[in-house]
Amino acid sequence: MLEKDVLVSLRDRLLEEKARLLERYRKKEDTQARIEEEVREPCDLEDIGQMTYTQELLDNLSAREIFLVKEIDHALYKMQAGTYGICEYCGEEIQLERLQAIPWTRYHAHCAEKAEEEGIFPTYPSFNIETPIPEEVELQREDITEA
Ligand SMILES: [Zn+2]
Repeated sequence: MLEKDVLVSLRDRLLEEKARLLERYRKKEDTQARIEEEVREPCDLEDIGQMTYTQELLDNLSAREIFLVKEIDHALYKMQAGTYGICEYCGEEIQLERLQAIPWTRYHAHCAEKAEEEGIFPTYPSFNIETPIPEEVELQREDITEA
């Protein structure tokens, strides 16, 4: 089991990442003042977590960004459900180092490969967001899938 303070810090990182993705959208967008207000007003992370996104917002995010937002929401949901940090492929706990590198991950690195091979669920598309990924983490999925 993850300790509560670890879980809280991971949750905050998920919420921050989600806010950042939505912020990227906001910068791209020039006419959606209404959404801008929705994003700007609830400053605290809890509210951002609760925020629903409109179809326009989703239409303006890239597929990869939508994927990430959904994965983040999925991870937040699992935190509430008490299943966060459990690999969805094998049912064992995911290493904390991996969770800290990819807080929204569903799988162990090796299970992600299997899940992908079996077509169960997409693993992580190559990252194009500003978040630095620690080098020691095995996240080089694009090397395998796009080679
Ligand atoms: Zn696993």
